[in-house]
Amino acid sequence: MGVDHTPAMQQYLDIKDQHRDCIVLFRMGDFYEMFFDDAVIAARELSITLTTRNKNKEDAIPLAGFPYHALATYLGRLISKGYKVAICEQMEDPKTAKGVVKRDVVRIITPGLLAAAENIMTADNVFLAAIHPGEGKLPWGVAFLDLSTGEFYLSAASDLETLSAQLAGVNFREAILREDTRLQMERKDWLFPGEGVLATYVPADYFSPREAETRLKDFFPPEELASLDFAPYQATLSAAGAVLKYVTETQKTNLGHLNRIRWYEREAYLVLDETAKRNLELFSSIIGGAREGSLFHFLDETSTAMGTRMLRWWLNHPLRDPFEINERLSAVEELRNDHLLRAALRRALKGVSDLERLGSRIAMQVASPRDLVALKNSLERLPEVTSLLGELACPQIASARDAIDIMDDLSDLIELAIVDAPPPSLKDGGIIREGFDSELDALLSLVRDGRSGIAALEEKERRRTGIGSLKVGFNNVFGYYIEITKAGAGIIPADYIRKQTLVNAERYINQELKEYEDTVLHARTRMLEREYELFAKLRERLAGEIKRIQTTARCVSRLDVLASLAEVAGKYNYCRPDVDNDSIIEIRDGRHPVVERMPLAEGFVPNDLKLDGDQNRFLVITGPNMAGKSTYIRQVALIVLMAQMGGFVPAKSARIGAVDRIFTRLGAADSLARGQSTFMVEMIEVANILKNATTRSLIILDEVGRGTGTFDGIAIAWAVAEYIHDMNHLKSRTLFATHYHQLTELAITKDGVKNYNIAVRESKNEIIFLRKIVPGGTNRSYGIHVARLAGLPVDAIKRAREILENMETREFDEVGMPAIARRKKAPKRGGQLNLFADDRDALLGALTAQTRRRWPPLMPLAGSKTEKTDDCSDGGTED
Ligand code: ADP
Repeated sequence: MGVDHTPAMQQYLDIKDQHRDCIVLFRMGDFYEMFFDDAVIAARELSITLTTRNKNKEDAIPLAGFPYHALATYLGRLISKGYKVAICEQMEDPKTAKGVVKRDVVRIITPGLLAAAENIMTADNVFLAAIHPGEGKLPWGVAFLDLSTGEFYLSAASDLETLSAQLAGVNFREAILREDTRLQMERKDWLFPGEGVLATYVPADYFSPREAETRLKDFFPPEELASLDFAPYQATLSAAGAVLKYVTETQKTNLGHLNRIRWYEREAYLVLDETAKRNLELFSSIIGGAREGSLFHFLDETSTAMGTRMLRWWLNHPLRDPFEINERLSAVEELRNDHLLRAALRRALKGVSDLERLGSRIAMQVASPRDLVALKNSLERLPEVTSLLGELACPQIASARDAIDIMDDLSDLIELAIVDAPPPSLKDGGIIREGFDSELDALLSLVRDGRSGIAALEEKERRRTGIGSLKVGFNNVFGYYIEITKAGAGIIPADYIRKQTLVNAERYINQELKEYEDTVLHARTRMLEREYELFAKLRERLAGEIKRIQTTARCVSRLDVLASLAEVAGKYNYCRPDVDNDSIIEIRDGRHPVVERMPLAEGFVPNDLKLDGDQNRFLVITGPNMAGKSTYIRQVALIVLMAQMGGFVPAKSARIGAVDRIFTRLGAADSLARGQSTFMVEMIEVANILKNATTRSLIILDEVGRGTGTFDGIAIAWAVAEYIHDMNHLKSRTLFATHYHQLTELAITKDGVKNYNIAVRESKNEIIFLRKIVPGGTNRSYGIHVARLAGLPVDAIKRAREILENMETREFDEVGMPAIARRKKAPKRGGQLNLFADDRDALLGALTAQTRRRWPPLMPLAGSKTEKTDDCSDGGTED
């Protein structure tokens, strides 16, 4: 349509054209400007004013902007709202530029790539993931990267469900996906567990395996790549390539800190899916989502940001291998036993900054002078850390201690080069210490001489002219000038040249002043340049040492986490669990780590547990509402989880036969928000458990079947319990809390089922909760009791009792077996798997039929024929 844009606007449009999916921040002098739709979005999201460039003209353009020094604030807001931002800078000095100033995008900040914007990061990992769908029988490929720490992981998943569980362990904020899979992936948004994960669709060539190989070789040394066998995992190779291409294109800088690449070994970890993490309130409480009520909040006694991050990782990834777990436990024990040492260690660690992130910023050349000083100050704490640990022998501590490199060569270098408290910005100078560089020192003395020359000139001119009010000043427009007030004016010397007239003063220059000015300004410009040169050289030199910094960062983080676990163990009187590969879980006087910290009137009552893979593998726990059933079953799950992360546990003693997964079906406080009925969510969760649990899993079920009619509910609860108990591929250790007291009758027919209840004492008008778990079932619900307490009329209560009795008399069949247990076909003896095959398929069929209505297909049923699902190409798994 031929609107003629100014050259700068044309330049903007060209740049915007290459960054269509970003908000472009276009640097103009001291401002970042946004135009067109970007301006409209920015005005809305940042509450800044929307104005118009060339108002009333044909080419009127919406415009919004903010001063350059406010970048951090506004950038943070845009990113947290899920936008990508391209930062376009002036690439030359506008004063010397011919024509329109050259501009270029220097960096793109996206929700998954925040490394260059340290002021908007939390201590947590921020991952970017690339996901490549599996083709035919080939597995899905995943690669994920935390640019801010340099952690880079690879993974493959046979199917979507595994993929989803895998991603649950990783807090990723952005996923790169192939544009041509958009339709397929958009229907799978449930794959992304985190709220507000940005999906970035890129052309398919990002995932080219050939390009991926070249890129990997560019980034990683041959010894890193040698151990990765990509042959069966082409999709993973492609995903890794996509990540590398995406970071290269967005960051446009050195990425030397990406030098380590690892397979993410899901099998090495106790798997916790999103549901389990939410239900067990590992990182945030269910109600309100606050961090304060979470387990993490109580466990976090780390001293450094990188320690906090690693602790989070450990809690997200408890281990499976008892050997590794015990190594951690020994380290925790050693530190727990010496609290003086521990206190000193934690004090020393408090002075250590986030070395991992500092290292990345140095490698990416965005580190500021203050970052370098923070590095130096941190390195200076390390000798104390290593010497404190000098005597400790357990392998986890000794190996970390020995691998710490105190890097005194680097801290000495920084000490020599950089002043103790440099200004925040690189632009104003004052960074490099005097005596570090002779050229800089010479320039500095020129500046100083010039300034004192100017001061002397003022004195001299005052004397020469006899004007007492004469003074020398400076402004950005004219540089130095001599100012004489009109009131005080005498005879102006002939060599003065008038530059400016103010209301009550005149400003002049003369030859001598101009000469000083040239020296001062010129020397100052050179000085700033020289400072920058020296700083950049030093930063580059440090970037060459990135591996040393990273290795030490990892060791320090590990020590910090171990010290934190030891601190918690000491502070709250936890015990060291015995962890092995048996199937026994035995806990004496176990407590709930979070509830016991709450102000409880009667204090927290500890409880025991005995679970095994045999006679005590399925515990039915009954008791009235509010007795403490859910607290008890959660506490067992948490104790197991804490033990397997290598921590001490809230109990007098604990023996933990390691578990492979913890499944939970607990309260559903948050499910309404997802637009599904509570009962549907409940059934989806149960279906998932029945399909994926194994003999090594721990299952925690609370009130299964409550969301529907009583008969329905009891029927489902009973069938689910039987299924878990009987199926050879399950027989998982299970805690089943319920107020359906009918379920206690399961113990009559099933060997592995044991009944427990939470004791209450009934006095005349109330129930006293004793909070103590005792063997045996309750033979009634307390619903009627509660109704009486609530003041229902006596007649109604009486009648309710009568009806209840009527119903209860029909509970047992003619031979005294629980009527619920009866089957239509008389069961054959032996061969349990086949025996239940029909029921099992019926139950699972019913559950999946429900789930399919609203959710994308779940995994094909374990052990059953592969179900053909209609919209995913994973082809199902074989068990
Ligand atoms: P239920 O699941 O049986 O309805 P909860 O486990 O929700 O009961 O427990 C109700 C309340 O009882 C908890 O919020 C807690 O304050 C208290 N409680 C639970 N277990 C204990 C315990 N072992 N010692 C002291 N108080 C407890």
